[in-house]
Amino acid sequence: MSIYVVGHKNPDTDSICSAIAYAYFRNTRVKEKGDLKLQEEAIPVRQGDLNPETEFVLKKFGFETPELMTDGEGKKVILVDHSDVAQSLDNIDKAEIIAIIDHHKIGDITTPNPIMMMVMPCGCTATVIKGIFDYCNIEIPPNIAGILLASILSDTVAFKSVTTTEKDKKAAEELAKIAGIDNMMALAMEMFKAKSDVAGKSPRDLLFRDYKDFDMSGYKVGIGQIEVVDLSLLDEIKDALYDEMNKVKEEGNYNSIFLMLTDIMKEGTELLCVTDNPEVVEKAFGKKLEGKSVWLDGVMSRKKQVVPPFEKAFASL
Ligand code: MG
Ligand code: MG
Ligand code: MG
Repeated sequence: MSIYVVGHKNPDTDSICSAIAYAYFRNTRVKEKGDLKLQEEAIPVRQGDLNPETEFVLKKFGFETPELMTDGEGKKVILVDHSDVAQSLDNIDKAEIIAIIDHHKIGDITTPNPIMMMVMPCGCTATVIKGIFDYCNIEIPPNIAGILLASILSDTVAFKSVTTTEKDKKAAEELAKIAGIDNMMALAMEMFKAKSDVAGKSPRDLLFRDYKDFDMSGYKVGIGQIEVVDLSLLDEIKDALYDEMNKVKEEGNYNSIFLMLTDIMKEGTELLCVTDNPEVVEKAFGKKLEGKSVWLDGVMSRKKQVVPPFEKAFASL
């Protein structure tokens, strides 16, 4: 039986590349250590389409797109970059979870047996995986180092996000050396350009490109994020995005849908809001909704700067 390594729904670069890297790590450890318990082959899979940034990264470092797998029933799985049921495989309760490697808050996934779990409060799952390679003394090949580095640059927005830790910076420097990349900021800019490619994409595709569902005190909340090098790239499509959010809210019976339009260069976010309880925005950020949105200076991270204040605000309703 194989073991499938999988990141969250609507995968980002970290979810895809950490799955590839961790599968490589596990398979290499089997060979090197001859560990009988680890003999099943680990296979990286994905829960959805790749975003243009991830496509660019896989192509640059010579990796194939992992196979699509959306249902966990009867499978052995390793989860990377998430531990929330809502973000995981369908029927995750009917899967056997072998390990969880992550850098988010602990989610609501539970297991009947003890598992390997490595969760650190750093900027990227790839940073945690770099640490696991080092701890186990397993050499990181240049192409794996490349995708781990790209994941760190993506998740930390080239170290600008408040989620960035010294561990991420140190891991990135070491990975860049292994991958033979002298100028990691040039790589980051190439990635951000790829990520900013919104031309010709449907509003629905853009809304769900980087989108997560949350249960906040019983309220169903969806939070998406589009990161671009210049918000003016979204001017023409903003109204269509807002209409789409309204549609999705109705279809999915949401209390709220929020969409972070993040300007990587200005280091801030315009938060588009469709909600039954507009007061949560003021409760969370101390700023009233101005029409459809609110500008949040310095806000770039969903998990650190948007999810926690909203969780508090919904808990107080
Ligand atoms: Mg992620
Ligand atoms: Mg991540
Ligand atoms: Mg992200």
